[in-house]
Amino acid sequence: MSYSMIINGVATEAADHFDVPNPATGEVVAAAPIASPDQIAAAVDAARAAQPGWAARSSEERAAMVMACAELFEANAASLAKLITEEQGKPLSGPGSNFEMQAVIGWTQVPASLDLEPEVVFEDETRRDELHYGPLGVVVAIAPWNWPAMIAIWQIVPSIRMGNTVVIKPSEYTPLSTLEIVRLMNEVLPPGVVNSVSGAGEVGAALTTNPGVDKIMFTGSAATGQKVAAAASDSLARVTLELGGNDAAIILDDVNPGEIAEALFWGTFINMGQTCACAKRLYVHESIHDELVDALAGIATAMPMGDGLDESNVIGPVQNVPQLNIVKDLVADAKATGGTIVCGGEEPGGPGNFFPLTIVTGLDNGSRLVDEEQFGPVVPVIKYTEVEEALAKANALDVGLGASVWSSDPARAAVIAGRMEAGTVWINSHGQIHPMSPFGGAKASGIGLEFGVEGLKAVCQPKVISFTKQPG
Ligand code: NAD
Repeated sequence: MSYSMIINGVATEAADHFDVPNPATGEVVAAAPIASPDQIAAAVDAARAAQPGWAARSSEERAAMVMACAELFEANAASLAKLITEEQGKPLSGPGSNFEMQAVIGWTQVPASLDLEPEVVFEDETRRDELHYGPLGVVVAIAPWNWPAMIAIWQIVPSIRMGNTVVIKPSEYTPLSTLEIVRLMNEVLPPGVVNSVSGAGEVGAALTTNPGVDKIMFTGSAATGQKVAAAASDSLARVTLELGGNDAAIILDDVNPGEIAEALFWGTFINMGQTCACAKRLYVHESIHDELVDALAGIATAMPMGDGLDESNVIGPVQNVPQLNIVKDLVADAKATGGTIVCGGEEPGGPGNFFPLTIVTGLDNGSRLVDEEQFGPVVPVIKYTEVEEALAKANALDVGLGASVWSSDPARAAVIAGRMEAGTVWINSHGQIHPMSPFGGAKASGIGLEFGVEGLKAVCQPKVISFTKQPG
């Protein structure tokens, strides 16, 4: 089967294609089109032409159409989840592709149910100043491969809800579910409101340098984010950058290791660790270190790993070979520099990009596995004595997407949470994002916010209308 791009409501083929392999088997799932420069320009032109008409519709009408998209996602959730498993690798079961489809539906319904009313920001006897929010125009969305469908929705839905039109480019590793989602949305939306173009980085670069673009929503690595920001500096297009992280979790001495182990495990290894806001460095107090490591390793080794289409598996492969190589390299470095492999650590062999869940102790800041984002199924556990030392190490890196504090004393945890340098700090969980709570990075983890009311503002042009009460 081959998948088409949708440009101006029309299924559009390309002259060239690339194969999308299944990371669990290496077999080709399907071919995806490579957008030509003319097709990329045509997609932006279609979005530009459709935008005034889309923005002119009432807010209620746009909300109703977005809700209708959510119904379509619900009706097609099973087939989309299967496609996500085939191209991305995450299993159907556990917090996998069925879970991702529930997020797709929820993150479509919530922005549809929100709106931005004008706010009176100042009033006295002489004037009343109102802050209004209108669309920016054409939004380009560029997505990564880890949660392809969910992140596409995070980018598309708030944008169209507020009257913008969109051109989305999915990752070249996982284009199929996004092409299918855009096809479904076009059953409901007017032509040109949501367009898709697929291909590798050059397609993204061509979109970000197109002068007809008003806003770029980018989710991916910091290195590409810097290129996107540089491209946007020419046109002064607005940017939201959701970039990499290396989230620290600080586990205090007052936790019961057995009670927190499962939540900490999933906060670390959801999607095989290929999640922007996974716990990627665990700082554990020395008094509970060994017990917690044993509990985590017990869970990790009991989790069935294999092809995610088999519903008995809850752990899948690494999504792509370059990412698998990063994980292998970091594990090799950890072994060579004195780390202890508590579980995992060796490739199983056989087809697919499988690597077992791996826990490493005995490392510290300064080790590559601690300092670099692994974005895969390996985590370092760092023993600490003083909480000030853990906090200093947690804050030492130049990234700060998420973070967490684990304690039986919420007040004590809250004080530490207040001092962690991150866009979100969870207490007694990690990565529990919510469509009403703004999400974004501190430091080099990004610029701007997604989700909730703040996410709607991020795709709007604010405008003050100032009424004079006493002319002259
Ligand atoms: P990536 O930067 O390699 O690719 C992301 C997208 O950018 C892809 O669609 C790619 O084709 C495109 N691209 C490549 N070169 C481009 C260019 N010059 N101009 C425009 N677009 C270009 O990232 P990835 O490997 O797909 O994703 C992994 C990274 O994403 C990790 O660092 C992870 O932490 C981060 N991430 C962050 C969030 C978040 O919300 N903060 C969410 C998911 C992933």
